[in-house]
Amino acid sequence: MNKEIMEVGRDKIAAIVKAWANAKKLVVFTGAGMSTESGLPDFRSARGLWKVGPESLATMAALRQQPDEFYFFYQWRIAKLWDVAPNQGHQALAALQQKGNMVIITQNVDGLHQRANAENVVELHGSLRTIRCLNCYAVYDSRELLPQYSTWEEDYRQGNYCYGDECLCSQCGGLLRPDVVLFGENLPDKAWEEAVKHSRNADFYVVLGSSLVVSPANYLPQLALQNGAKLLIINQEPTPLDSSATWVINSSIGSVLSAIKDKMFS
Ligand SMILES: [Zn+2]
Repeated sequence: MNKEIMEVGRDKIAAIVKAWANAKKLVVFTGAGMSTESGLPDFRSARGLWKVGPESLATMAALRQQPDEFYFFYQWRIAKLWDVAPNQGHQALAALQQKGNMVIITQNVDGLHQRANAENVVELHGSLRTIRCLNCYAVYDSRELLPQYSTWEEDYRQGNYCYGDECLCSQCGGLLRPDVVLFGENLPDKAWEEAVKHSRNADFYVVLGSSLVVSPANYLPQLALQNGAKLLIINQEPTPLDSSATWVINSSIGSVLSAIKDKMFS
C-alpha cells in the first residue's frame, strides 16, 4: 500500500469498495484531471507557441478565416495525444468495468478511456481520435490530419507553416475538422441525452478529476444526488459538491483507483 493510500485510509477504501461492489447502476464522470497523469501537455500552457489565444482558435470562424492557425493548433494537439498512453487510472477503471454495469461520461476528448479498452463511454465534447469532412461527413482517424514531413512544428515557429492536402477529404476534397465540440457549438444531442439518462438512474456516482464548476459538470452529479445516489469525488482540489458527497478524496486518481481495483479483485 503506497503512501497516498495510507493517507486516504484503509477503512475509507474498504467502505468505497463495498459500496462500489453493491452498486446497481454505477456512473463515472471524468474531467481533465483524469488525464493529467498521462503527461498530456496542456495546450493552454504551451507559451509562446500560439500567435492567438487557443480559445479563439477552437472555432469554426478560425477554420474559415485563419486555416493555417486552426489546422496547426489541432495537428499539434492530435500529435501530442497519440504520443501519450492511458495512465494507471484509465487502466484501473477499465478493469473495474469488468466487474459489472458501469457507464463512463467524460468531458475529455483524448479517447484515453477507449484506448485503455473501456466500454460504454459517453463523450460529451466529442473526440480528437477522429476527424470528419465538412462537406460529405466522411470520418477518418485523426492521425490522417498530421503532415507527412517532419519539420512542420519548426515551420510554424518560423512563420512558414501552411496547411496542406492532409487537411482535405480524400473522397471529395472538402475541408476536414476535428470531431470535437468547438466554442459556440452545442454538445452532441445524443451524448447529452445519454449522460442525463444515466446520471438520473445512478445509485453510485463517481467524479474523477473535475472541479465541478463549469456546466455541464456541475449539473450531472446533482441529478444522481436527487436520485439518492452515493457520491464519491476524487479530485486534487475541493469542489462545490464536496459537502454532498459520501466520500471526498484529494489525491492521485491513479493510486486510489488502483487500490480500489486491487481490493475488488482480491
Ligand atoms: Zn468529404
